[in-house]
Parts: sequence; structure tokens; C-alpha cells
Amino acid sequence: MPTIKLYEKDSYIKEFTATVVSCEEKDGAYFVVLNKTAFFPEGGGQDADKGKIGDADVLDVQIKDEIIYHKVNKSFKENEEVNCVLDWDTRFSRMQNHTGEHIVSGVIHSLFGYNNVGFHMNDALITLDVDGPLTEENIKTVELTSNKAIYDNKSVKAIYPTAEELPDYDYRSKLDITEGVRLIEIEDYDLCACCAPHVAKTGEIGIIKILSFIPYKKGTRIEMICGLLALNDYRNLHTTNKSIMNMLSAKRFEIADAVEKIQNELSNARAENKKLMADLATLKMEKHINGNNVCVFIDGVSYDELRNCSNTLIDEFEYCYLFSNTDENNYIYVVSSKENNVREEVQNLNKAFNGKGGGRDTYAQGKIIGTKESILEYLK
Ligand SMILES: [Zn+2]
Repeated sequence: MPTIKLYEKDSYIKEFTATVVSCEEKDGAYFVVLNKTAFFPEGGGQDADKGKIGDADVLDVQIKDEIIYHKVNKSFKENEEVNCVLDWDTRFSRMQNHTGEHIVSGVIHSLFGYNNVGFHMNDALITLDVDGPLTEENIKTVELTSNKAIYDNKSVKAIYPTAEELPDYDYRSKLDITEGVRLIEIEDYDLCACCAPHVAKTGEIGIIKILSFIPYKKGTRIEMICGLLALNDYRNLHTTNKSIMNMLSAKRFEIADAVEKIQNELSNARAENKKLMADLATLKMEKHINGNNVCVFIDGVSYDELRNCSNTLIDEFEYCYLFSNTDENNYIYVVSSKENNVREEVQNLNKAFNGKGGGRDTYAQGKIIGTKESILEYLK
């Protein structure tokens, strides 16, 4: 016998009594079938309801061949009367979000003629895909129009047309079936096939906020939140904004300007630091000149400083070898030349000191293992 779906006729049932039809154990969990249920089984992009059957936790709810299975952590006897309670906060939030999604999809359909081609809802946000491109301006219009549907407090109803009546209905998410189709009508805004519980009045949604939109498979992927989720999101944003305001001593809507100012200051400071490091490297530089070549040691600097120094020496010398120690036996190096190919020199250097590195024809950098004395000896 199919399970009676209490949630279809009345989505506001939070608590109900039912009779256990069967209870089967599988892999340590129990699967209970009731004669009727208000627990919505996973489907149509929405997760299964949570709650309690007796004192057992409802872990999952699935529907198969019109029979609804409640996965619980305790066993029940057949014909047992059980009191069932839904996790109402979660369910109501999902109703707010699901009805909100229908409004947004309906508004996009009526304004742009696009279809909803994907929908998923979790307890953090809704993802919906439509089959056409949308601009920032379009999204603003969709968001505002959708919120006006909330202010208008329109009624939301489930309609069950017969197979004969069905062709008279112009609805979204057309199904292949003609029997038992359930349509959700949002007065003046949308008509769509759907199996899930919805709010009765659009005012209950509270707010619809589109979080993001990106081009997706020739269409658009939208992320949005409604009702309590949107309030929580706003609260979190407000808290974050407030702590940034305090850190920056900036007013409510001036944090972006304050961050930009800090970024500019930081990039100036970095440029100045770079110049100071280059000056310092020049001061610390220990030059060993051998004919047209130069070998330089600078303690404790990075490739950047070695490269900067090599740029100042490159006009004077044929080959420039620059080294900086990371410890007594390990050196990083830069080998450069204005006109000559340094590849062979670098290969030999790596070979002699068990090193690694490379680069372009006239510039290379890397690491070697060796002492200053052994490097100087080698370069003679
Ligand atoms: Zn739906």
C-alpha cells in the first residue's frame, strides 16, 4: 500500500501519530514504513526531512514505488502507534527556500523565456541553472521582481489536474507523466510541477537574495538564499563588516576605500623595501674580479637581490657569478652575461657542486652545495 503523504496536502504538519506498517533491519539501521507520514523524502532537488519517530532519530527518508522508508536508529514493532515530530526549523527554512526558488525561476521564465534546467538545495544555499545568459542588470531586476512577489503576499497552492485537464495548464518543469501530476501555483507569478512542501503565502519567505551568478553551459548558474538563511547570511556579513570597520577605523560602507588605501600603501612600502634591500645587498657585496669575469658573495639575500646586483654588474663584466649562502655549505646562485650563453657554465657549476638550476641563454639561477673557498677555487 502506498504511504499517505501528509506533507502534500498540508505542509505545516509538525507532529503526527501514525501506525508502523513494517520495520526492517539492514546494516545496523532500521527502515520503518508508516501508514502515513509528514516526513518529506529526498527528491526534486530537496533533502529528506529530519526529526523523531518515537525516540528514534530520523536519519534519512526515501521513497520507492510510492512507499516511504524512514531510516532510523531504533527498531519498531508492527502495528505500533508512534508519535512523530519533524525538525521544523530545518523544514520551514527549506520551504522558504524552495518556494523562493520557484518565484525566481518563474520570474526569469516570464521576463526572459528561459527554463530552469537544474536545481539543488542544501541547508546553506540553493543552486539553480537556467538555459540562457543573464547580465548583472538582469539579475538585479529578477531579484527585485522576486522580492515584490513576497511583498504582495501571494497565495501558494498545490493543484492536482486530471489527465484531461492537464493540457489546459501552461506550467514549468513539464513531466512525461499525465496522471497524478502535482502543480504548485504561485498566484500571478508561477506554475510548476513539484512534489515538495511549500509555504502557503509568499510573505512567509521574508526575503530572496541572489548571492552570485556565473555563465554555465551556455546558460547561467545562480546561487541564492531565502528567509532565515538570508537573515543569518546578513547577520554574518554584518558581524564581519563590523570587525573590519573596527580594524580599519572606517565607516559602514567605506571599508572598500579603506582597503584600497592600505593596498596602495603596501605596494609603495614593498617597492621601497625592494630598493632598500638592493642598496643593502650592494653594501654587503664582496667582489672577486678575475679578468673579465666577476664573482660576488652577498650573505643572506634572495634571488631577487642577486638578480638586481647582477643587473648592475652585467655591463662591466663578461660573466657574472653571484652567490648567497643559505648556510655554511649551501649557496643559491645567479649566473648572467650580457651577450654570452651561460648554459654550459651553469651545467658545469651544477655538476661540480651537486647543484640544481637553470634558466635562459643569458641568465640562470639555482642552488649548489659547497663552501665559499671551494667555489672561489673552482672559479679560478
Ligand atoms: Zn519545486
